[in-house]
Order: sequence, then structure tokens, then C-alpha cells
Amino acid sequence: MAHPESYALQGMPVWCTACGARRDWAFINHGRHVWVRCRCGHEWHEPELTRADFDALVLPGAGVEYANVDEMLAKLGFDGIFRGMYLG
Ligand SMILES: [Zn+2]
Repeated sequence: MAHPESYALQGMPVWCTACGARRDWAFINHGRHVWVRCRCGHEWHEPELTRADFDALVLPGAGVEYANVDEMLAKLGFDGIFRGMYLG
């Protein structure tokens, strides 16, 4: 799912070690683990982010189901095409 705002993890803002972005994430849930993906295409496993956190982020009715991660990333523009771009 996409999370356009910044996200603070236990008081520490999530930021991308590759490009320094501090907002506009995609959260990808696989089982009990959650990955964070940046607009630049950098993706990492965030061990501090649990399935419960992920579920809390998915507001009822706001979640969109995708067939697979690649489809989600492409439709949300997280496949790297917006690298270096910030949409406001
Ligand atoms: Zn990045």
C-alpha cells in the first residue's frame, strides 16, 4: 500500500538511505514481515515494522488489493520511474 506522508517508527522518522527521502513510501507486507520501498526504487526490510503496524496503516475501505507486488509498484509509480522526483 502507498503511504504518501512521512512515517515515524517509534518516534524515528523513516528515511531512505539511498536518496534521503523522508516521505512517500510503499509498504509491502509479506507474512509477518514488512518492507518499505522508496520512490527511488530502494527497498528494505523494516524489522521494527510489524504486521500489526501495517494493518493499522490500512484504513478500512482505503486499501487496494493488487495481484502481486510488481503490479502494485508499477501502478503506484514505485518502479523507479519517479526517481528523484517529488510530487509536491
Ligand atoms: Zn530513496
